[in-house]
Amino acid sequence: MGRAVFITLGCKLSFAESSAWAREFAAAGYEIVTEGEEADIYVVNTCSVTSNADKKGRNLISRLHRRFPGARIVVAGCQAQLKAEEMAAMEGVWAVVGSQYKGDLYAIATADTPGRKVFLEPIEESDAYFPAHSSIGRTRAFLKVQDGCDYHCTYCTVPLARGVSRNAPIASIVGQARQIAAAGFKEVVLTGVNTGDFGKSTGESFFGLIKELNEVNGIERYRISSIEPNLLTEEIIDWIAKGTKFLPHFHIPLQSGCDRILAAMHRRYNTGFFRQKIEYIRSRMDNVFFGIDVIAGFPGETDADFNSTYRFLEEIRPAFIHIFPYSRRAGTPAAEMPGQVPESVKKERVKALERLCDNLHGAFCEANRGRCEQVLFESTEKDGKMFGYSRNYIKVERDYDPSLVGRIVDVIL
Ligand code: SF4
Repeated sequence: MGRAVFITLGCKLSFAESSAWAREFAAAGYEIVTEGEEADIYVVNTCSVTSNADKKGRNLISRLHRRFPGARIVVAGCQAQLKAEEMAAMEGVWAVVGSQYKGDLYAIATADTPGRKVFLEPIEESDAYFPAHSSIGRTRAFLKVQDGCDYHCTYCTVPLARGVSRNAPIASIVGQARQIAAAGFKEVVLTGVNTGDFGKSTGESFFGLIKELNEVNGIERYRISSIEPNLLTEEIIDWIAKGTKFLPHFHIPLQSGCDRILAAMHRRYNTGFFRQKIEYIRSRMDNVFFGIDVIAGFPGETDADFNSTYRFLEEIRPAFIHIFPYSRRAGTPAAEMPGQVPESVKKERVKALERLCDNLHGAFCEANRGRCEQVLFESTEKDGKMFGYSRNYIKVERDYDPSLVGRIVDVIL
């Protein structure tokens, strides 16, 4: 058997899918090596969230082919689905694997003859569910619980690249969580495209899923990677607050703090609803870490609209802001909207939000100073240091001590 490399350009979900492929290759006898090394097969799991991500994918493929001209390059991920022919035309590409064929990637990549080059179905007919999980070090695992999205926000290509909302049954996800526990992991991060939409394709619910996962022995902590505010229900919040393995850490996309822009984005809430949600969570739990996604420079966003977003964030005080300059994606309604914001203005808005994020994050850490928190230490050693995360996602660093790896210990922050 040969050597294979997996390179992921996308999100946690793509990372989980790459790991699932790598395990399949390793089980078949392939040696999995890292990006700079020589290999027979390079699987490039692309991202298409911005035009910059598209460019990165294309540059990486060209670079790989120049450096390892004899190797097979297999392109998967969102760019493979959205730009299959363009990817297939690139030199060195052995196959392009669309969304529906993720489960066949090993067979496609290792076939004796190339057969066809493009494995693609229209996205509306791509409903296969590819189960996946991945890990960071030896303590934290990312478990895919859901794929696709039915929301069609006007800026987003994900429904075009990943298809309809779907999931594996609770029983099979719980089975994967048990495997993860058996491998020694203590913390699991639930990932998906629209995670809270879990259950649509199986007649189950996200609440049902988290209650079952809570019972898996060996896993001591769960985080939800991201959840739409309308799907994080009071029922779920009350249950988490009762003292479950689910941590006081919520990543919730806001995208804009201006109601007019939220409506143009086709988001399913307004700022009043969002504010109430945050207040409700804070009324049930202390010291919650909120990570909030925001898009800067959506078409039609004026200075006044941006200022509304800025003030709204100052008011709700998240611990972190994930900032994305709006990227015009072909095939989305927002790409055709009037009032496209110049790049220079987007840059300024991003910078302003970055400064705000620094202040808010600093204030959150400061407010937690002196509190006793449980920290799960990870296995990575860097410059004699190790790190871990508190329940409410504060990163803690200390001198490396191998006896602490994978242990949850009390720490005064
Ligand atoms: S909910 Fe998220 S994934 Fe779905 S369309 Fe909106 S932004 Fe995209």
